[in-house]
Amino acid sequence: MKTNSYVYGQWIDGVGTPAQVKHALSGEVISHVDSTGIDFAKVVEHSKQVAGPILRNMTLHERADALKALGLYLLERKAHYYEISHKSGATKVDGWVDIEGGIGTMLSYSSMVRRELPNETFIVEGDVEALSKNGTFVGQHILTAKPGLSLHINAFNFPCWGMLEKIAPSILAGVPVIVKPATVTAYLTHAMVQDIIASGLLPEGSLQLICGATGNLLEQLDEQDVVTFTGSAVTGKMLKQHPNIVEKNIPFNMEADSLNCSILGETVTEDSPEFDLFIKEVAREMTMKAGQKCTAIRRTIVPSSKIEAVQAALIARLQKVTIGDPSAEGVKMGALVGLKQRDDVRSQVAKLAQTCDVVFGGNDAKFDVIGADASVGAFYPPTLLRCNSPLTQAGPHEIEAFGPVTTLMPYASIDEAITIAKLGKGSLVASVVSFDPVEIKNLVLNAAAFHGRVLVLNRDCAKESTGHGSPLASLVHGGPGRAGGGEELGGLRAIKHYMQRTAIQGSPSTLMAITNEYVKGAKTVSYDKHPFRKYFEDLSIGESLTTHKRTVTEADIVNFGCLSGDHFYAHFDETAVKDSFFGKRVAHGYFIISAAAGMFVDPAKGPVIANYGLENLRFIEPVGIGDTIQVTITVKRKIKKAKRPDDIKATGVVVWNVEVCNQHEELVALYDILTLVERQEP
Ligand code: NAP
Repeated sequence: MKTNSYVYGQWIDGVGTPAQVKHALSGEVISHVDSTGIDFAKVVEHSKQVAGPILRNMTLHERADALKALGLYLLERKAHYYEISHKSGATKVDGWVDIEGGIGTMLSYSSMVRRELPNETFIVEGDVEALSKNGTFVGQHILTAKPGLSLHINAFNFPCWGMLEKIAPSILAGVPVIVKPATVTAYLTHAMVQDIIASGLLPEGSLQLICGATGNLLEQLDEQDVVTFTGSAVTGKMLKQHPNIVEKNIPFNMEADSLNCSILGETVTEDSPEFDLFIKEVAREMTMKAGQKCTAIRRTIVPSSKIEAVQAALIARLQKVTIGDPSAEGVKMGALVGLKQRDDVRSQVAKLAQTCDVVFGGNDAKFDVIGADASVGAFYPPTLLRCNSPLTQAGPHEIEAFGPVTTLMPYASIDEAITIAKLGKGSLVASVVSFDPVEIKNLVLNAAAFHGRVLVLNRDCAKESTGHGSPLASLVHGGPGRAGGGEELGGLRAIKHYMQRTAIQGSPSTLMAITNEYVKGAKTVSYDKHPFRKYFEDLSIGESLTTHKRTVTEADIVNFGCLSGDHFYAHFDETAVKDSFFGKRVAHGYFIISAAAGMFVDPAKGPVIANYGLENLRFIEPVGIGDTIQVTITVKRKIKKAKRPDDIKATGVVVWNVEVCNQHEELVALYDILTLVERQEP
């Protein structure tokens, strides 16, 4: 089979000598990979000229809709990917993480954008910053799509997830993608990209695929492009120093190998649930995907008093791990993706063994292989090493064996455990297994700066925990130092990596015209009829209503206190309030916002369907008996919602800026309310 490339709108076969890729289990040649002959300048031009303008013209919601349709389309074809994934030695569970985990991440991104961002081509970030005394000069940050491309160079271990978790944020940002999968598992990425292209769900040029070497591609990039790299630190550092990357300051996000650790708390006893959880988690991380996970636990740090017990329990568990063809009955762990990868693991274990004892498995271990021929498949047994002097031996903190391998190391005190964790010089994830809150806090706060993510595992969360090794769409993935210093995922942050953040300064009206969001002090639009009587599409940003006035009486305070049961001294105790912060009895803040609603709401049934929520509430000045309040509501932002099949009406969310003032024109309360408003247009 030819694992060819999809570039400038065509599938192109290489014209050189292809690399042969072998089946991880049988050793037979299953794919030929070659990119020789590709015109990389034309690839870059295709992304930028064909796809870029189309993607940037689409709103964030339109991009999200396209990804949602694509995710569902791929899910329908998942059986095909599982079949192919088996060739890489993956079990069904390993494949699930890669295939459905990848598609799930893309779908999460799609819904996150539709839920959290307005339907614009750009993102407005943060609050408006006041920059002048009279409020005529303000500032705000916006993010716009880079008019470039993103090149994603991926590692071999997650051929689907590795691609999808990065193309989703990039396409959502409006930036076309070139994906370069690792050669040894490119056949699976290729199969999925074939379907993506055939689906026609993404604009042409949004996704190009290069299977094989990247030739002079890095030389074609410019300052509006982004490179992401996942793989070994050696390759990453080499590519990061490419003269063109350095010269043009092209953002280069690196996720490299990482010596992640798991720490068993000093307070955990052998008969506690946490001890079992620790053993299970370490063994699971060692054997899942045959340990070929960037987040796998490479360093297992335990109290010296419990190291013998941990070692015995881990060995007992690892002895039960059956190795072989994942399609054979009872097999728990498959093979590494290829013989080269197995040889790399062997050589790294040999290096580790110079300063550590091999206490289980290892290069010389004899092990059974079920349903496959051990002499041709890339099998390697779960391997436990032990380093008795982790403070003085550098090996286990520097050498990564990218397979089912971990090194056990003892600590004498929590401070020592923290020091050992830090010797990894930065990693993707650490886990702390303990039920003692003081110990947990100490470990987490002192080790956090060296890790991108910290999982705290104990009996309270174990059942629902997603585990040490699983990066999640909503949480940051990446780590400092040795782990590459990069960052991906982490909710909307990931999208912003492909956009340029720009601070915009000007008058409130200018900013409102640019961002399509009301800015305090901007020229408001007078209304022709009550805004609650208008449909979503008829409301304009900046459209404003100022209500009649209402004087607050003692009866209001008494009635509201009785109704709500809130008899706080500031509303009711004349004597206590005298020498307080208020100096006099004041109305309940919640009365003020309730009264405000009574003043601005138009009660008849109409296009405003429901109150959706209230945000950013601030009580600024107290309101006393006899003070007179008045309310101004202004359309601040509009978010069009996609109509779902079971929705009776098409709707949108309107965010209203609400200002309540007193008779001295001082602000007493400020907040945003969100209403669900009917649309007439489909
Ligand atoms: P690798 O050898 O560094 O390769 C990574 C990627 O770089 C592959 O796509 C490779 O393509 C490409 N590459 C190599 N040389 C290149 C060059 N001169 N120009 C352009 N691209 C080049 O790493 P790997 O063996 O695939 O992956 C295993 C390593 O990745 C492990 O060390 C693991 O810890 C790390 N990893 C880290 C993370 C993370 O998120 N931090 C995730 C997964 C894996 P070819 O295959 O065609 O050479």
